[in-house]
Amino acid sequence: MPDLLIATTNPGKIREIIPILAGTAYRLLTLADLGRPILEPDETGRTFRDNAALKATYYALASGMLTVAEDSGLAIDALDGRPGIYSARYPGETYPDKFANLYRELSAYPRPWAARYVCALVVQSPGAQPPVFECEGIVEGEIWPEPRGTHGFGYDPIFYFPEYGATFGEVDDERKSVVAHRGRAFRQLKDFLQVN
Ligand code: IMP
Repeated sequence: MPDLLIATTNPGKIREIIPILAGTAYRLLTLADLGRPILEPDETGRTFRDNAALKATYYALASGMLTVAEDSGLAIDALDGRPGIYSARYPGETYPDKFANLYRELSAYPRPWAARYVCALVVQSPGAQPPVFECEGIVEGEIWPEPRGTHGFGYDPIFYFPEYGATFGEVDDERKSVVAHRGRAFRQLKDFLQVN
């Protein structure tokens, strides 16, 4: 069984990714399974895709394994796409702090506050130069004016998905994954792995 390294330590992401790729002919490992720490690369890219490619190339070389990396984040229209690639680094120690800062910024704009989650995914092998596979997943929604729910991670309690009439904080991982950015991207990868 060939190995596939999922280059993340984010437990929220791992919970969503593993069930999708579980049926493939690959042995799935995450960075925690490598048994040795690998220093994180600086995410110096200017797009989700560039950061995903940078992480996939870096971890493929560091591990010697076929590697999938993703870069994702929340893009809010009223803020010209911010926090975008800086979602994890948006001001605020905790997510409730980040929500408060976002609400402060958004209070200058009328609702609804249209937003989307984006996930760029790149697969790289340690030898090959062009990526083995790449794709993107997007889900459209809006920022809800107060946090709701305790499921998911990150910005999920304030990301409202109109078709569900709920925030991603109010639905379980499975229900989120069917429609969400990461689910959409990793299901494309699953299809690719099943024929390659
Ligand atoms: P990355 O690890 O650099 O890709 O940062 C992704 C960041 O975007 C996360 O730390 C969250 O702040 C945000 N994010 C991405 N996907 C999700 C999601 O599915 N739910 C909530 N927040 C997300």
